[in-house]
Amino acid sequence: MLTIEGLTKSYSQNGSPATCALGGVSFSVPKGAFVSLVGPSGCGKSTLLQCVCGLMRPTAGRVTLAGREISAPPPEMALIFQNAAASLFPWFTILGNIRFVLRRAPGSKAQKLETARSALAAVGLADFAEHYPWQLSGGMQQRAALARGLAYGAEILLLDEPFASVDAQTREDLEDLLAGVARQQGKTVLFVTHDIDEAVYLADTVVALTPPPAKVAAILPIDLPHP
Ligand code: ADP
Ligand code: ADP
Repeated sequence: MLTIEGLTKSYSQNGSPATCALGGVSFSVPKGAFVSLVGPSGCGKSTLLQCVCGLMRPTAGRVTLAGREISAPPPEMALIFQNAAASLFPWFTILGNIRFVLRRAPGSKAQKLETARSALAAVGLADFAEHYPWQLSGGMQQRAALARGLAYGAEILLLDEPFASVDAQTREDLEDLLAGVARQQGKTVLFVTHDIDEAVYLADTVVALTPPPAKVAAILPIDLPHP
């Protein structure tokens, strides 16, 4: 269980009053669940995600994974942001990007190459392994970032508006791809979006946040067929 308890975050600014982004947010994400976190822009979703993976320290409250408090990004987690282009290394091919995150993983070189290739195949990029990120469209770059998260075996995918900057058709394709891969591979997903339709379409639970300072407005089980 990934548990978020009473998470509070104030950004202190020299002189001026602090901005309170999170006002005490609590919810939990069971193993294998697909949870969408939805709320208006600026309500503190990115702040929350960064606290969840230990990239940012909350002012109060805590995040635990299987009972252990998180203080740095754990190896079980993969983070995927809106702008994959900024997180893929431009000097490596798509395959090279994935092999790079596997460099310290156990297994032989040949096994890891196979892992990298099958992650690319899972996101429909088998034929683009030798392309550089900048040779691919934005949607394909997002796929590559997803493949990288899958390849190193992250059990938990944290996604921050991952499809916000791709066109509508690509976005629908990527939503279905993510949902399919996550359910097939039993991944736990925390998916941040300001788009309520997208949140409901993908998740089995939607956590809705209030305007800032964010609190949990509702936790809604979604009882609809999923992609
Ligand atoms: P969302 O992801 O929902 O759009 P954010 O978590 O990015 O919201 O931001 C929540 C609030 O915190 C906003 O008012 C934003 O301006 C403020 N904020 C975010 N990051 C910082 C920062 N590094 N320093 C000061 N204020 C910040
Ligand atoms: P349970 O969820 O059955 O209570 P634990 O919390 O003891 O089991 O976790 C067992 C293993 O599952 C740990 O290795 C932990 O890293 C992993 N794990 C726990 N919660 C999650 C989650 N929400 N998503 C993915 N992996 C998780």
